[in-house]
Amino acid sequence: MHFDAVIVGAGAAGLFCAGLAGEQGLKVLLIDHSDKVAEKIRISGGGRCNFTNRDLDPRAPQKHFLGDNANFCRSALARFTPNDFIALVQKHGIPFHEKHKGQLFGDRSSEDFIRMLVAECDAGGVQRWQPCKVSSVATTEGGYTLETDRGTVTTRNVVIATGGLSIPKIGATDFGYRIAKQFGVRVVEPRPALVPLTFDGDAWAPFAQLAGLALPVIIETGEKKTRIAFHEDLLFTHRGLSGPAVLQVSSYWREGQPLRIDLTAGQDIEQALRDAKARSRKLIANELAAFVPSRLADAWVQQDPAWQRPINEASDKALAQLAQRLSRWEIVPTGSEGYRKAEVTAGGVDTRDLSSQTMESKQPGLYFIGEVVDVTGWLGGYNFQWAWASAHACAHAMAQA
Ligand code: FAD
Repeated sequence: MHFDAVIVGAGAAGLFCAGLAGEQGLKVLLIDHSDKVAEKIRISGGGRCNFTNRDLDPRAPQKHFLGDNANFCRSALARFTPNDFIALVQKHGIPFHEKHKGQLFGDRSSEDFIRMLVAECDAGGVQRWQPCKVSSVATTEGGYTLETDRGTVTTRNVVIATGGLSIPKIGATDFGYRIAKQFGVRVVEPRPALVPLTFDGDAWAPFAQLAGLALPVIIETGEKKTRIAFHEDLLFTHRGLSGPAVLQVSSYWREGQPLRIDLTAGQDIEQALRDAKARSRKLIANELAAFVPSRLADAWVQQDPAWQRPINEASDKALAQLAQRLSRWEIVPTGSEGYRKAEVTAGGVDTRDLSSQTMESKQPGLYFIGEVVDVTGWLGGYNFQWAWASAHACAHAMAQA
């Protein structure tokens, strides 16, 4: 059987690319080793799919994307914008709403988006094989031969859309990286991103009692040029820290680096405690609870006997130290929860070996799209927008070739 394009991976990028290429007249085969398509869309956004973000500015991609060359994604993102995807969602009559910071979610369920992408594939006459394993990809005259457990197929173009390594239990594999290496395309070492961070058991023991507590913070990592800060919610867990603040910063964090956390989210606690000292005889923890959650205030004062007394009996120095420790809490994670819990994989197919216009690699007719590429978005719909935009660039390039 011969195709114009065989796309491996029926996730967000693969499904969207297949539909677009089929609608432009290409004969397309879409293969996935799982029996269901797009499992990650299904579980995304707490089951509602945060499918894009209105705040994306393609002229400044480094604002919401990272990778060895954050500018690589500029062209594809400029040619397929959040508004383009929103128009498709509206065409399919899917209701949606905006949440926090430009994030768009479906009103009902992620299934709406999967049905939409499958309907677009059907409209484009895309053949879908799943579950189906690909055992090899080899070049032949004018294209490629793929051995699959449903037989041999030949094709002019191969598109790798197999995603990253996150959540292996729903089908993530290193297939994309292996194919890249087979054809001499470089791969930037993958690592878990948008992932909870963990701490050494003993060092974490005083904070483990806070598991389940969420509060707004300012969190940062890196030094000078690599310094990055987020103003988001933090969640304490039994093993460490999670919540949007830590997920965001985890994509930039490197082993050995500290996190600096302002648990007061920018409030002037030192002045507030001094004012309280002048008028109150309450315990320091009780006064502190006006500014941070009382569970945090109670646990925090346990760190120093000088903080466990009525505020009018505390020295100015002790209050200053307490304020400083809360607003400049520095802590070094020992690791992360890994691919088991990571929402995405940073690193991946090296953009130096891909065209930013077409997603074609230096191996003619071999394309890489979506998360398998070394482009990682922030939390908030950016990763799906990259999947849509890179799929769009690839489909148009194949149709025009
Ligand atoms: P995927 O969607 O992962 O698709 C890859 C496909 O390839 C899968 O169907 C897989 O079965 C298949 N595959 C893998 N290996 C093989 C192989 N060897 N042979 C054949 N097929 C193979 N991003 C957002 O923007 N918004 C969100 O709300 C959001 N929520 C998320 C929530 C969770 C819990 C997780 C884990 C991720 C979330 N993401 C979110 C990230 C987003 O899901 C991914 O970035 C996006 O799905 C990547 O699309 P993709 O098509 O490149 O890869």
